[in-house]
Amino acid sequence: MLIVMDKDASPEQIQAVVAKIEVLGFVAQPIPGGQRVAIGILRNPHPLDSALFLDMPGVTQAIPVSKPYKLVSREMKREDTVITFANGVTIGHGRFVVMAGPCAIESESQALTIARLVKAEGAQIFRGGAYKPRTSPYSYQGMGKTGLKIMDKVRQETGLLIITEAVDHDSLKQVAEYADIVQIGARNMQNYTLLRKAGGVAKPIMLKRGMYATLDEWLMAAEYIMAEGNSQVILCERGIRGIGEHTRNLLDLATVPSVRRESHLPIVVDPSHAAGRRDLVSPLARAAVAAGADGLVVEVHHEPEKALSDGAQSLYPDQFAILMEEIGSLRPGGWD
Ligand code: PEP
Ligand code: MN
Repeated sequence: MLIVMDKDASPEQIQAVVAKIEVLGFVAQPIPGGQRVAIGILRNPHPLDSALFLDMPGVTQAIPVSKPYKLVSREMKREDTVITFANGVTIGHGRFVVMAGPCAIESESQALTIARLVKAEGAQIFRGGAYKPRTSPYSYQGMGKTGLKIMDKVRQETGLLIITEAVDHDSLKQVAEYADIVQIGARNMQNYTLLRKAGGVAKPIMLKRGMYATLDEWLMAAEYIMAEGNSQVILCERGIRGIGEHTRNLLDLATVPSVRRESHLPIVVDPSHAAGRRDLVSPLARAAVAAGADGLVVEVHHEPEKALSDGAQSLYPDQFAILMEEIGSLRPGGWD
C-alpha cells in the first residue's frame, strides 16, 4: 500500500504515519516526490485496510499496490527516477546517455585509446569489464583489480564516468570502490545474495536482464536492490534467448515501453550483447532510441579482430561515430 500525504502535510503528520506503520509491524519507506511525500508500506503479508490511514491528518490517499514489486513500481512512485552524477551527466526522464567501450579491459593503452575515441564522439560513460563472466572457463577472465585501476586512470585522464561489472561479493566490494556505476550482468540477475549486497552499495547499479527472465522477474530482481535501500537502479535490456543463429540473443524492445509503464526506473539498451555481431548493432541501437530508451550500452574496439572478448560484436570507432550521428538525429532535442 502507498500512503500519499497532502502536499502541505507537516513533518509531524508524516512521522505519525511512519510510526503507525511500524507499530503494525511493517516497514515504512518514504518515497521522495516532486510535489508531495508518499510512504510505501513494505513487508505486509496480507493486503491492508485503507481505513487504517485515511482518517489520519495529512493523509490524502491510501492506494493498494497491485504489483508484486513495490519500490520499483510506478504505482509507488509516479515521477521518473533521475540519476545525476557529480560531473553533471544525468540518466532518466528523457536524458540520454551513451556508455561505450570494449567488452574487457585488456591493457592501459587499449582502454585509454578506446576511451578517447568514444569520448570524442560524445559518449559520457566508459564501459569495460575487469571481471568477466565468460561462458567458458578457458576464455579470458579479465584483469581483475588491475583492470579497475586502469578504469580509474581512464576517468582521471578523460573525465568519462566508468561502469564495470561485479560478478560476486568480493568483486562487488572492489567495483563499488572504483566505478561510478556498478553493473550486475545477465548471468547474475537472479543471484539474490549479490543483489542484496548491491542494495547496500552507495553507487548506482545497472541491472541487466537475465537471458531467460520475464519482465516481472527482472523487476523483482531490481526490487531486491531497492529493498536494501539503494534507489539508484538502471535497467538494461540486452536480449533474451531466441531461436535461430542469426543473432546471439533476441533483443526485446517491447521492454522499453513496458518498463516505462510499470516502473519509474531508467531503461537503457545494449544492442551489442543482443546482436553478437557487428553488422546488427547499429540498426538495433537506432531502434532502441526510437523505442524511447534512456541510453545505450555499446561495445567499441579499435582493433576488434585482436579483442580478447566479444570482438565480433564490437564496433570499429568509425562505425561508432556514424551511429552517434544517427542517434543524434533521431532525438529531436539532440543531446542533453
Ligand atoms: C557485459 O556487458 O560485459 C556482459 C557480459 O553482458 P551480459 O551480462 O549482458 O551478457
Ligand atoms: Mn561483451
